Amino acid sequence: MSITRRTLLAGAGTGAVAVLLAACTPEPVPTPTRTSTPGPKPSPPVGVPAPAAWARSAWSTDPYSLGAVSYLPAGSDPQRRETLAAPVMDRLFFAGEATDAAHPGTVLGAVDSGRRAGQEVLTRASDTERVAVIGAGAAGVAAARTVADAGHTVTIFEARERTGGRLLTRGDDDGWPFPVQLGAWLLSDEDVDALEARLITVGEGRIAFDSATGWTADGPTDTLDVEPVVRAVEQAGELPTDVPVAEAVTLSGADPTDPALAAALAWMSATTGADPERASSWYAPDMAPDALTGVTGDLSAFIDDSLTGIAVTLASPVVRAAYDERGVSLRMGTGESLSFDRVIVTVPLGVLQQQAIEFAPALPFAHRGAIADLAAGYIETVWMRFDEPFWDAEQTIWHVIGGDGMIRTWLNLLPVTGEPVLIGLVGGAPAQEFAGLSDQDAKDAARASLAFFAPVPDVQGQ
Ligand SMILES: Cc1cc2nc3c(=O)[nH]c(=O)nc-3n(C[C@H](O)[C@H](O)[C@H](O)COP(=O)(O)OP(=O)(O)OC[C@H]3O[C@@H](n4cnc5c(N)ncnc54)[C@H](O)[C@@H]3O)c2cc1C
Repeated sequence: MSITRRTLLAGAGTGAVAVLLAACTPEPVPTPTRTSTPGPKPSPPVGVPAPAAWARSAWSTDPYSLGAVSYLPAGSDPQRRETLAAPVMDRLFFAGEATDAAHPGTVLGAVDSGRRAGQEVLTRASDTERVAVIGAGAAGVAAARTVADAGHTVTIFEARERTGGRLLTRGDDDGWPFPVQLGAWLLSDEDVDALEARLITVGEGRIAFDSATGWTADGPTDTLDVEPVVRAVEQAGELPTDVPVAEAVTLSGADPTDPALAAALAWMSATTGADPERASSWYAPDMAPDALTGVTGDLSAFIDDSLTGIAVTLASPVVRAAYDERGVSLRMGTGESLSFDRVIVTVPLGVLQQQAIEFAPALPFAHRGAIADLAAGYIETVWMRFDEPFWDAEQTIWHVIGGDGMIRTWLNLLPVTGEPVLIGLVGGAPAQEFAGLSDQDAKDAARASLAFFAPVPDVQGQ
C-alpha cells in the first residue's frame, strides 16, 4: 500500500481543524462496518470432496485483532494515522500498522511504526526508566527491541498465549507441503528486501503465484481486468468529495455488480481488506498485481529472534491504562496493576475501536477522532488439502467470476508443490461473514465456493 500525492496535499492543516472542532463536536464513534445479512447456508457441491485437512483464520472476530488491516474509508485521510501516532503527555506512545502513513496495513509498516515509537520514547526517557509495550506483534517487538537496545528495561504484555499477532504460522503436521500461514505471508520481494534492510530475517523459502485465470460457471475465461476500477478511482480523484470505490465505479459508468467487475473488487478486498462500499477513492487501496509471492518459512522465528533478552508476559490482556504526567499504570485482565514510566500501545485499530482498553483519562479528542475515522479491514483465509485433485486448472491464482460463492480468490499449490492444496482468500464484508460461521458451515461455504471447478457430472444414460 502506498501514499499518493493527494495524501500529502489533503493531510496539510487537518490537525488545526481537529483542535478547533474539539470544543464543539460530539464524541467521535467509529462508523459501524456494514455486516452482510447472512444468506442461506451454502451446501457443498457434488464433485468438491471434503478436504483431508483444513485450517481457517477468524481475525475479524478474534477479540485481540478485530480485523486484518486498517484502511481509509471515504472522507478520511492519511493524516488520521499521524494523529493516532502522536504521543500523549509524553507517557503514552502509539505504534502498529494503523499508525504508519507510508506502509499502512503491512508488516513493513508495523515494523517501521514500532521503531518510530521506540525512538520517540528514547528521546524522552532517562536511563533508569521502566518501559512497557502492549502487544507482541511486529510493531510491539520492533518497539521493544529499539528501546531495549538502548539499555532500558522493557516488558511486553501480550494478551494471547503466543507472540506474532497477525503473523501466524501453524506447525506443519497434517501433511501440508509447507507450514500453514493464517496471517500475513504474501510479501512482495520489495517488502522482503525492505524488511531485511532493517536487519529482520524473514527466511529463505518463497513460492511464486505467477499465473492467473478467471473461472466462470462455463469454465475458464480471461483473468481479471482491473482497469475499469483503476480508471474509476482516477476519475473520482477529480470529484469535489471523496466517494467510496464502489460508487466511483458506478459514477464512471460501469456496473459494480457486473460479475467481472465484482470479481475485480473482490480481489481488491481479498488483498487489502478494504470494503469497496466504504473505501476511499481519493486514497484508494492499491490493486495487487495478478502475481504474488508467498513466504513459506516459519514466521514466528522472525518475531522471536527479535525478542532475545526482552521479558514477554503472555496471556496478559491489558484492560486499563491510567496515565498522568508522572507515569502510566496498567491493569491486566487478571486484576493485577503495574506501573511504568512510559508505555507503547501497539494493539490493532479494531481493538482500540472496541475500547477493549480503557484509557484514564480518555485519550485526547484528536486520537479518538482518528480511531473512529479509520476503518478496520477484514481478510480471512482457508487452507484445504485434498486426497486427490478434483480440478483441472493449472494456473496458480484463480478468480471466481459470477455465482454466489463467498470466497472468490484461490491459490492453487498443486503446480508449485505437487500437493493438492487450495488456499482461499476473502476480504471485506464477506470475510467478516466467513469469520462468523461455525467450522462446519465455513468448510461448506469454502467447498461451495469451488463449485465451478468441480468436474461436470457424467449425464450419459439419464
Ligand atoms: C489474513 C491476513 C493477511 C495479511 N496479509 C498481509 C500481507 O500479505 N502483507 C503484509 O505486509 N501484511 C499483511 N497483513 C497485515 C499484517 O499482518 C499486519 O499489518 C501486521 O502484522 C500488524 O502488526 P501489528 O504489530 O501492528 O499488529 P498485531 O500483529 O495485531 O499485534 C498486536 C498485538 O497486540 C495484542 N493485543 C491486542 N489486544 C491486547 C490487549 N488488550 N493487551 C495486550 N495485548 C493485546 C495482540 O494479541 C497482538 O499480538 C495481513 C493480515 C492478515 C490478518
